[in-house]
Amino acid sequence: MDFKTKPSQKFDLPKRIARLGELAYNLWWTWHPEAARLFGKLDYDLWERLGHNPIRLLQEIGHGRLTQAAKEKDYLALYDALFGDFDSYFTNESWSQKNHPELKNPIAYFSMEFGLHETLPIYSGGLGVLAGDHLKESSDLGLPLVAVGFMYGQGYFSQRISEDGWQDAINNPLTFEHLPVTLVTKNDKPVTIQIEFPDRNIVAQIWEVRVGRVALYLLDSNVEANNEYDRLLTARLYWSDLDRRVMQEVLLGVGGVRALRALGFKPAVWHMNEGHASFLTLERARELVASGSTFENAAKKTLGQNVFTTHTPVPAGNDEFPLWLLDKYLAKLWPELGLTREEFVDIAKHHQPHGETFSMPVLALKLSGGSNGVSELHGEVSRDMWKFLWPDREEKDVPIQHVTNGVHTANWMARRLNNLFENHLGGDWYEHLDEPAFWSKLDTVPDSELWAVRLHLKRKLAFYMRERVRDRWGHGGFHPVQVVSSGVLINPYALTIGFARRFATYKRANLILSDIERLLDIINRPNMPVQIIFAGKAHPADEPGKQLIQKVYRTVKKAETGGRLVFLEDYDMNLARYLVQGVDVWMNTPRRPMEASGTSGMKAAINGVLNFSVLDGWWREAYNGHNGWSIGEDKEYESNEIQDTADAEDLYHTLEHEIIPLYYNRDPKEISHEWLARMKNTMKTCIPQFSTRRMVKEYAEKFYVPALKK
Ligand SMILES: *Cc1c(COP(=O)(O)O)cnc(C)c1O
Repeated sequence: MDFKTKPSQKFDLPKRIARLGELAYNLWWTWHPEAARLFGKLDYDLWERLGHNPIRLLQEIGHGRLTQAAKEKDYLALYDALFGDFDSYFTNESWSQKNHPELKNPIAYFSMEFGLHETLPIYSGGLGVLAGDHLKESSDLGLPLVAVGFMYGQGYFSQRISEDGWQDAINNPLTFEHLPVTLVTKNDKPVTIQIEFPDRNIVAQIWEVRVGRVALYLLDSNVEANNEYDRLLTARLYWSDLDRRVMQEVLLGVGGVRALRALGFKPAVWHMNEGHASFLTLERARELVASGSTFENAAKKTLGQNVFTTHTPVPAGNDEFPLWLLDKYLAKLWPELGLTREEFVDIAKHHQPHGETFSMPVLALKLSGGSNGVSELHGEVSRDMWKFLWPDREEKDVPIQHVTNGVHTANWMARRLNNLFENHLGGDWYEHLDEPAFWSKLDTVPDSELWAVRLHLKRKLAFYMRERVRDRWGHGGFHPVQVVSSGVLINPYALTIGFARRFATYKRANLILSDIERLLDIINRPNMPVQIIFAGKAHPADEPGKQLIQKVYRTVKKAETGGRLVFLEDYDMNLARYLVQGVDVWMNTPRRPMEASGTSGMKAAINGVLNFSVLDGWWREAYNGHNGWSIGEDKEYESNEIQDTADAEDLYHTLEHEIIPLYYNRDPKEISHEWLARMKNTMKTCIPQFSTRRMVKEYAEKFYVPALKK
């Protein structure tokens, strides 16, 4: 290919360790703890202070320390071993090459957000983290995948919580020189693509991110050719204003296809991660119409290679646009498709009580050869929700399947656990990741060693919370009650429950607060204390979400809680890692069936944390009575009120009568063997099944490979 990515930042590195610069620009390092250690070892304090950012570390560390490291025997041994692994990662025969040599041309994967690492804040939550994990696993499996998204100039906001519990959103421009992105150029000029709106054109440049073997291309409208308003189009995730939203989605879908063309890719499959990217279906059809096809034929011809994944069981959560917005932004497109306005609107028309809209998921569903929800229950819910599009079919025959989500194990599992597995399951355990039978070997891991790892991870979380508060307190303007609410009084030996996720009201963060007296009794029991750590952001425009945070915070800071309830600011992938590795129990209380899948509970489970959750999304498939606990029943309730009351009662009862007694039932060495038995059960059942290893293979075999033959 004749395009280039602008040479990565030149670091002034000693020759012997010069490849650190290359490593800093490939996010491969983020899921290989030994690679992170290679950076950390240069200067641990600086590494922490810079938020695990290797590019900034290499910029700021100073030549003295680098020259020294380049002479240290131990450091060089680590360096050589690591780059040995790094190089063979790219040359070893992959799963895909071995099993699916027919997958040659790339799978193009489109997503509005990608959660790859906390230093690249171009994600808001679960959808993005799933997309990031999808890329990492595709790289591991050697799938020829190329991804498209946005390089947001300000990233997702940072969250501060005021003394009274109100969420403040902080938006700062990102410094691209500090980030693992390189501008794509040709003949020393940025490669750009253009979108024609009725009254003006918009130009975007393209940044490349390396994720192991996978390349991710990020569109960026902040270029001189655009007016000030349009330059902000890719400044933030999910503009609430519909004008910007529709323009963003045109840029992603249409602009994304054009970007891949400009870079010379010929994708064989086009995967839309959620409806935001649905316009890609129209751009692909337009390409054929331009060379003489009718729209109908073009749609038929391209449909087989389009794959659509829906993530939203809530009708209101789906993007749809009022028809007048189409006139404003898409009026140039329908003639190019050989369609009238009416025919165009008909493709994705959705009759709503408030009028007719143009629905992004309808567009994707109608123009994709394969569609899926993200858990078994979500597949059912989606078939029910969209069956009106196939009026002549029975609900069970509505062509929406399911692929249950997974998490990228190396990305989320604690290094200490990895070490334990290497000692007891063999150095090649990761190659058996998705083989359920392999995991019965966990019985050979001594209880005392697993318990010690769990205690270590909880202490690590406690120290981390303390250091975060020390930093905030040291900078001034932080009230003592905020210090206490941030976890300084946490006891690293007490039963600790984590609840961290986006603060949307259906997730019911306040369910456990519904009877405060009972909760206070639970957390303050003599000899059996319980602690609960909350974290999560609300979308800046979601007032009820922000009020929910405030409600939780006002309870957290009550003196009667004794500092045992905690709210941690600014939930991101780094905090998520500490939490899912460090707590004992992961609680999730969505209003069933609104949680399409959920993934944070999977991250917890692979670390031996026990889930305590509503039987919704993935947990409904994973729970077997011995690997955690359920909240409520596997059924629909008559009303929200009845469901909330029943779920709260069940939640308190299970905590009081099962979870707490089990945790504190110790042998003379202070170990709870029954707890460990559940822990091993959860790891045996969840590690193979809820990994992206299983998930991406399933996408390949259910969707990508069959698409080649359609
Ligand atoms: C995993 C993750 C999520 C998604 O969690 P859910 O359980 O799906 O709500 C959200 N935010 C961050 C930072 C995550 O790491």
